[in-house]
Amino acid sequence: MAANLWWSWQPEAQRLFASLDPIAWRASNHAPLVAISAAAQIRAGDGGCRLDELIADAGFLKRLAKVEELHRDYFKSSTWFDRLRKARRRAKVGAAGKGMRRMRVAYFCSEYALHESIPQYSGGLGVLAGDHLKSASDLGIPLCAVGLLYKHGYYRQEFRQDGTTRVLYPEPDFADWPLQNTGVEIECPIGSRTVRAKVWKLDVGRVPLYLLDADLPGNKPDDRKLTEGLYKGEPELRLRQQILLGVGGVKALVAVGEKPTLCHLNEGHAAFANLERMRMELEAGRSMEKGFDRLRQTSLFTTHTPVPAGHDRYEPQMVAKWLRPLMRELDLNMHGLADLGRETPGDKAEPLCMTVLALRTCGQVNGVASLHGQVSREMWKKVYGKEQSKDVPISHVTNGVHTQTWLAPEANELYAKHITPRWSGIDPAQPWWDKAKKIPDEELWALRNTLRHNLIHFVRERMSEQMLRRGATASMISDARHTLSKDALTIGFARRFATYKRAPLIFKDAARLEKLMQAKGQAVQIIFAGKAHPRDEAGQAYAQKIYKMAQKEGFRGSVAVLEEYDMHIGRMLTSGCDVWLNTPIRPHEASGTSGMKPPLHGGLNLSIADGWWPEGFNGKNGWVIDGDKWAVLQGRTRALSESGRARDEADASALYELLENVLVPLFYDRNRSGIPKKWLKLCKQSLMSIPAEFSSHRMLVDYAAMYMHEREI
Ligand SMILES: *Cc1c(COP(=O)(O)O)cnc(C)c1O
Repeated sequence: MAANLWWSWQPEAQRLFASLDPIAWRASNHAPLVAISAAAQIRAGDGGCRLDELIADAGFLKRLAKVEELHRDYFKSSTWFDRLRKARRRAKVGAAGKGMRRMRVAYFCSEYALHESIPQYSGGLGVLAGDHLKSASDLGIPLCAVGLLYKHGYYRQEFRQDGTTRVLYPEPDFADWPLQNTGVEIECPIGSRTVRAKVWKLDVGRVPLYLLDADLPGNKPDDRKLTEGLYKGEPELRLRQQILLGVGGVKALVAVGEKPTLCHLNEGHAAFANLERMRMELEAGRSMEKGFDRLRQTSLFTTHTPVPAGHDRYEPQMVAKWLRPLMRELDLNMHGLADLGRETPGDKAEPLCMTVLALRTCGQVNGVASLHGQVSREMWKKVYGKEQSKDVPISHVTNGVHTQTWLAPEANELYAKHITPRWSGIDPAQPWWDKAKKIPDEELWALRNTLRHNLIHFVRERMSEQMLRRGATASMISDARHTLSKDALTIGFARRFATYKRAPLIFKDAARLEKLMQAKGQAVQIIFAGKAHPRDEAGQAYAQKIYKMAQKEGFRGSVAVLEEYDMHIGRMLTSGCDVWLNTPIRPHEASGTSGMKPPLHGGLNLSIADGWWPEGFNGKNGWVIDGDKWAVLQGRTRALSESGRARDEADASALYELLENVLVPLFYDRNRSGIPKKWLKLCKQSLMSIPAEFSSHRMLVDYAAMYMHEREI
């Protein structure tokens, strides 16, 4: 069971693995294979091992049998897609057309966040991709995925005493992960050399994820670097990595025998895949026009950011240097190739943009939220030669999160009682979450308290470990063990520290914030976590600023900053915080998904109306921070768009007013039994209105509607 990442969204399986060796389980950040080998270790004293004992333990065997049954059921039971297929067949549409291949999607992404023990991700894009694969597995959607296997992953973050970031690259032992050796190796021409890459496989439920590894003895040292790190190194290395991901990825699929009917490019990083697929069209004897047509018809592109720096752009000379072999086969010269990635073909000064290349070669394109769709249509008008953004054929599929991955086990138990005992493979159209209405206030409040207490305990432990490592004094470590309060209104902010996310915004008026947080009997506390890209100096400075704020006299003990934000910290924070804060510069947040996780636990969003939130907010399930409205009320309509400072000030002021006048009074308004009835009303609204709509199951069903050609099902 440890060999398939199915366990990564099964709390019962995780508990079973943890019980094998709790210390090894924790030390490995929850890796089953590590716990198993620790339990199999022969002890020096009596020559026995823990597994021997467990095999004789009736209680353990019973728990094992239960998990084995869940595992069997998962792979045996009929899925949403099976049922769809049957229904179509009964109606005599689909599946049958002779010579028609059955649908199979190939999903390309540069990072996958599947579990904290496999740190091959930097942030939201990876989390989304991981959740995508899990939902495809639950729903039975025929899908395989491709990526790179990074020796160092992203990076490990530590803060120095002065709040600057120490960037570490620990080397994982791949033997700790359930990687399977497919025995397949591919050859990918990159520049004048042929790079070999080994194809590994991770099973994610029913979905195979193929990962390319160029760190092979036969490759030149410079080529072995191709899979050293995620988003690491010079632009030229990044370009070569993207050739391996795209071109090599397609070759890997062919080599393992996958025959996709559709390629889904998740973000532009893998756009070179379509050049290789075009080459295959020509190789099959099709004309340029016919081949290009087929390519577009079988390609879907999801764009993920409106921030200009988020789109890779390369000089044509550089691209030509590394893509020469493919250009020859496609009969393209340097500018011919660059034109495919230019907003204005023929403009020789324009670099090749990976997003534009994907837009031009994919017949279907979507953004990741309604607002982002709109922004993308405006942004890419030129590529489509349209005057008006409404004529640009870019739609949207709003992101979602994989419920079972993000749901705290304690919440799962409560919902099993009141909502549904079984989550996996459930029909996304079922109105399960409406039943949250029936959960008694006392039980929901007890859950909120349990989750907050767990979080505070976790933060105290992490903070004292961080202190210990920095050589802090005994009294400082003792302070860390008592930091934060178990019952105060707890606000969470965790995401990549990209500057547009404005992590320090809440400190805009530090005196006002301090007064608000320290009010007698109405304490407020904030927990931060997040990593900035090692080369993003402004982002690093933001992290340092927050770190320093947390050490100031007025905030010490009520502001905590955790190092090394990962899926585990993400799960703890999004389940335990009462309020989830999100303060991006509108409209730079394409979707954001972290805010979809607290509502699963009755948590509330306090957010700028950006990304998914304009769709999620219904007036009674959280709050919108509206700096524009604040500015209008102050008679300051002009300033906002003109300067970042005025906009920040307006947004911060709107945020403070909400906290002071609405959130704090509501949270501390208790009845005789100590229950905040009005607050819980909002919590229930959040629980009822958000999880169904913003789940990756719903997202996959939306994509399936785009993917599916009736006859292929
Ligand atoms: C959910 C999650 C994200 C995505 O957060 P955004 O709000 O979309 O930026 C990033 N990292 C981790 C570890 C997460 O759990």
